[in-house]
Amino acid sequence: METTDKEILRGGQFLVKETKCEDVFTLEDLSEEQKMMRESTKEFVDRELWAHWERFENKDYAYTEETMRKAGELGLLSVAVPESYGGMGMGFVSTMLVCDYISGATGSFSTAFGAHTGIGTMPITLYGTEEQKQKYVPKLASGEWFGAYCLTEPGAGSDANSGKTKAVLSDDGKYYSISGQKVWISNAGFCNLFIVFARIEDDKNITGFIVENDPSNGITLGEEERKLGIHSSSTRQVFFSDTKVPIENMLSERGNGFKIAMNALNIGRIKLAAACLEAQRRVIGEATKYANERIQFKTPIINFGAIKAKIANMATNCYADESASYRAAKNIEDRIAMRQAAGNSHQEAELKGVEEYAIECSILKVAASEDVQNTTDEGIQIFGGMGFSADTPMESAWRDARIARIYEGTNEINRMLVVGMLVKKAMKGHVDLLGPATKVGEELMGIPSFDVPDFSELFAEEKDLLARLKKVFLMVAGSAVQKYGPDLENHQQLMLSAADILIEIYMAESTILRTEKNAKRFGEEAQSTQIAMSRLYLYTAVDTIIQKGKEAIVSFAEGDEQRMMLMGLRRFTKYTNQPNVVALRTQIADRVAADNGYTFD
Ligand SMILES: Cc1cc2nc3c(=O)[nH]c(=O)nc-3n(C[C@H](O)[C@H](O)[C@H](O)COP(=O)(O)OP(=O)(O)OC[C@H]3O[C@@H](n4cnc5c(N)ncnc54)[C@H](O)[C@@H]3O)c2cc1C
Repeated sequence: METTDKEILRGGQFLVKETKCEDVFTLEDLSEEQKMMRESTKEFVDRELWAHWERFENKDYAYTEETMRKAGELGLLSVAVPESYGGMGMGFVSTMLVCDYISGATGSFSTAFGAHTGIGTMPITLYGTEEQKQKYVPKLASGEWFGAYCLTEPGAGSDANSGKTKAVLSDDGKYYSISGQKVWISNAGFCNLFIVFARIEDDKNITGFIVENDPSNGITLGEEERKLGIHSSSTRQVFFSDTKVPIENMLSERGNGFKIAMNALNIGRIKLAAACLEAQRRVIGEATKYANERIQFKTPIINFGAIKAKIANMATNCYADESASYRAAKNIEDRIAMRQAAGNSHQEAELKGVEEYAIECSILKVAASEDVQNTTDEGIQIFGGMGFSADTPMESAWRDARIARIYEGTNEINRMLVVGMLVKKAMKGHVDLLGPATKVGEELMGIPSFDVPDFSELFAEEKDLLARLKKVFLMVAGSAVQKYGPDLENHQQLMLSAADILIEIYMAESTILRTEKNAKRFGEEAQSTQIAMSRLYLYTAVDTIIQKGKEAIVSFAEGDEQRMMLMGLRRFTKYTNQPNVVALRTQIADRVAADNGYTFD
C-alpha cells in the first residue's frame, strides 16, 4: 500500500489524534529478512561479546576495537548507510533492530557502536557533500575507519552551543585552523576521524567539520577517563592546537553546526532507547534463571510475591519500551519513504523524517534509560548479596546502565525538550493543541455523564481511560501556557511534571495498541500475558499522572480554578473497574518464570 501524508501521524499528534491498532508497527510485524538479521546479530553478541564480558570489565580497550572491526566485517556497521556509499541501505526499523540486539551484552560495546554508527557517521551521511560522502562513508561503513563526535567542552555540556573551540580561516582561504579542548569523547582512543564543532569568528552558532585523526596535525589525546561503568568504551579528552582542516571538510554551511548536532542527537536518542532494550531482556533472563534456582526457606525464591512483583514490573517496562520504540521507528521509516516519494533526496528525507518525531525520540530516550536503570537495580536485588559481587553480570549491567540518563542530552534536558517542542509545534500549527484544550476546558465546566459505559470489549476501558489521560495533559499544559506564555520554560518543575504526563501517555498507548493488534490476529488467549502487562503499565502510568498532575496544578492555579482542575484530574483518571494489580503481576511473573526469561520479543 502506498503511504500517504494523511495516514502517517505527525510527530506529537498522538496526543490529539486517535491511533488505530492496525496503524502501529510492532516487533511481531518484522519481515523474515529482519528476523534473520536479528538472529545473526544475537549470534555475534553471544559469541564475541557476552562470552567475554570480563574483558570489557577489565578495560580491554583493544578488545572493543577488535570486536567493532568484526562487526564491520559482518556488515553490522553499515545497516543505516545508503548502498551508494557501501552500506546496506536498510530502513529505519532494521537499523533500530541491529542497534537493539547488539547492545545487550555490555555498555562498552554498545557505546562504541552507537558513537561510531550514529553521531560519528550520520552527520556525514546526512549533511556531507557528495565528495565528503564518497571519501569517508564507505570506510566508516565497513569498519576500516572509526568515527567520533566532538561536541562537549569543559564549559559547554548541556549548553552545547556555547563551546569555545575556534576555527580560523587561513590567509589563503584554503583551510581552517581549529584550536580548543573537547571532553568526554567516546571512541577517541581508536578513531580515525572526528566530527568537530567549532566557532568561526563571533558567529552565533557553531560550525561542523570533518577532521581526520592525525597526531602530527596538532591533535593530542588525554588519558582514558576512569569511569563508573562502560569500562572498555574509550572516553578521552581531545585537544586541537592549530589543527589544519581543508575548507572542503566543513560540514554543511557555516553556522549550521548546532542544527547538525541537534539532528544527530535526535537519531541518537531513539537509537539509545533501542540500545536499552536487549540489556533489559538479558537482565530479566538472568534474574529469572537465578530466582528459579536460588532456594531459601526451602523454596525457589521465584515463589515469593516480593520477587514476582519485581520480575513482573521489569518485564512490563521492557515490553512497553519495545512497543513504543518500534512504533516510533516505523513512523520515521514511513515518513522518510513519503518524503522520498515526493521527490526529496534520501538525505533530506531522512533528516526531516527524524526531525518530525523529535518529541517521540526524546520521550523514548528518557523512558528506556530509566527503565534499564531500574531493571538492573532490581536485578541486583534479586541476586541478593551475589548481585553486589563483581563476579556476576548484574553489577556491571547496573553500572553500565547509568550513563544512558546522561549522554545524548541529559534526561532533564530531554524532558524539557519534550514539552518545549510540543508547544512550538502547536504555535507553528503542526499540531492543534488549542482546539482540543479548549474542548477540555468546556468539558470541565459541564456536568459529567453518569452513564456506565459498556467496557466488555478488550481494552475498551483502558482506551477510554487513555483518551481521558490525554485530557489531563491538555488541561495542565494548556492552562500553564495560558498563564505563563513563553515564560513557561522558566517554570522547570512544571515542565518536568508535564513531560512525565506526556511520556506516560505515549508509552501506555503504544503498549496497549501493540497488544490489541496482536490479540486481534493471534487471539486473546495467546496474548493473555501481554494483556496483563498492558493493563499493569497503564495502572502505574495513571498513578504517575495523578501525582504529577496534582503537583503541576497546585503550582500555578488557585481557588476555584484549582478546585475545578483537581476535580477534572480525578474524573479523567478514574477507573470504573479497578484492576487487580497483584493478580496481574502474579500472572506476568508466572509466565516469565515458566519461560525462564523474557520471551515477548
Ligand atoms: C561516558 C561519556 C561519554 C560521552 N560521549 C560523548 C561524545 O562522544 N561526544 C560528546 O560530544 N559528548 C560526550 N559526552 C558528554 C555528554 O553528552 C555530556 O556529559 C552531557 O551532555 C551533559 O553535559 P555535562 O556533563 O556538561 O553536564 P551539565 O550540562 O553541566 O549538567 C549537569 C546537571 O545540570 C543539569 N542541567 C544543565 N542545564 C540545565 C538546564 N538548562 N535546565 C535544567 N537542568 C540543567 C543537567 O541535566 C545535569 O543534571 C559523554 C559523556 C560521558 C559521561
